[in-house]
Amino acid sequence: AAVSSIQSFELCEDPSFWKDHNVQVIIRMRPLSNNEISVQGNNKCVRQESCQTISWTGPPEARFTFDLVADENVSQENLFKVAGVPMVDNCMEGYNSCMFAYGQTGSGKTHTMLGDIEGGTRRHSVNCGMTPRIFEHLFSRIQKEKEVRRDEKLKFTCKCSFLEIYNEQILDLLDPSSSNLQIREDSKKGVYVENLKEMEVTNARDVIQLLVQGAANRKVAATNMNRASSRSHSVFTCIIESQWDSQGVTHFRFARLNLVDLAGSERQKSSGAEGERLKEATNINKSLSTLGLVIMNLVGISNGKSHHVPYRDSKLTFLLQDSLGGNSKTIIIANISPSICCSLETLSTLKFAQRAKFIRNNAIVNEDASGDVIAMRLQIQQLKKEVSRLR
Ligand code: ADP
Ligand code: MG
Repeated sequence: AAVSSIQSFELCEDPSFWKDHNVQVIIRMRPLSNNEISVQGNNKCVRQESCQTISWTGPPEARFTFDLVADENVSQENLFKVAGVPMVDNCMEGYNSCMFAYGQTGSGKTHTMLGDIEGGTRRHSVNCGMTPRIFEHLFSRIQKEKEVRRDEKLKFTCKCSFLEIYNEQILDLLDPSSSNLQIREDSKKGVYVENLKEMEVTNARDVIQLLVQGAANRKVAATNMNRASSRSHSVFTCIIESQWDSQGVTHFRFARLNLVDLAGSERQKSSGAEGERLKEATNINKSLSTLGLVIMNLVGISNGKSHHVPYRDSKLTFLLQDSLGGNSKTIIIANISPSICCSLETLSTLKFAQRAKFIRNNAIVNEDASGDVIAMRLQIQQLKKEVSRLR
């Protein structure tokens, strides 16, 4: 029998959630829509077995285990408590963190990541999603930290950027006039997007304003280019920096928080497509299929075999390489539809999520008395990666 969502919620309040692995995989099943119920009744292609197990009804039946299976009754607030709160806590400690929403179009990725943002923060709407809640919590943590430490010199700075990857091109959602931005790599800054607009934010309302602005620009870009926004990946990034003095030395700590709403994972129909449409279908497949390949190769590495991890083969994986097998704590939320019409896509998402469960990240705290030491540590980590690749 299905375990109630209350139980799954309690499980994840367990502070050991992040202890074993730096990659956590959550399945989130959306409810059947009224339309689906009117056509097919309450039949579903999946059945929740426990708070960590889900069965695909087949044929043949297949069973999958994850860190958490959230059924349609798990609210935005409870999912946030499970996944968002520990993520903010990790950022405050100086860990890079990343959350991906994966799944076919219509499975609930945007509902999960953004939800109802126009309504403001969680006090205003039950449908308010992960991102606004994360920032509300982040700023309340910062406020508390300031109150507790009572250190005049303690300073926090949060800078946000918002981009879209479409057709292997990067568009700045906070400055749509700039186009075709390039990814650069630097021993100090790590991987970053050149000339991407960064906005300093001091409260959750600032962030919501950026989210609304970015979402509107995304819509305009989609309309101008005559395509669905479900075909692009959006990446909202916040860099949280803090600095304080202790025994005459200035300490720095920083964390990068990436919140990613991926393009729909359904197979793109390239048959019959020509020109731009064909290029588009191929390129969209490229970022997502490279993501799949990166994951498979990472899993290979953690099994002791040597594989080349093709991070640079797509914009998405190049930009997010730290979140995949690098210096980050990462949550993958694989969104699924229970509708029997979506049965095969749901199976494919469950299989993807299953593979992702075996990624091992190596997260370190980004903190030191001088920024240079952090850069050196990152270089050492990079070299270790190279060595393990050569072995
Ligand atoms: P995607 O971004 O994956 O294409 P959406 O987030 O737009 O999918 O979701 C599709 C529809 O399903 C939307 O109308 C959304 O409000 C609804 N929906 C998705 N997940 C849930 C959920 N967990 N509870 C209630 N409604 C949901
Ligand atoms: Mg969406």
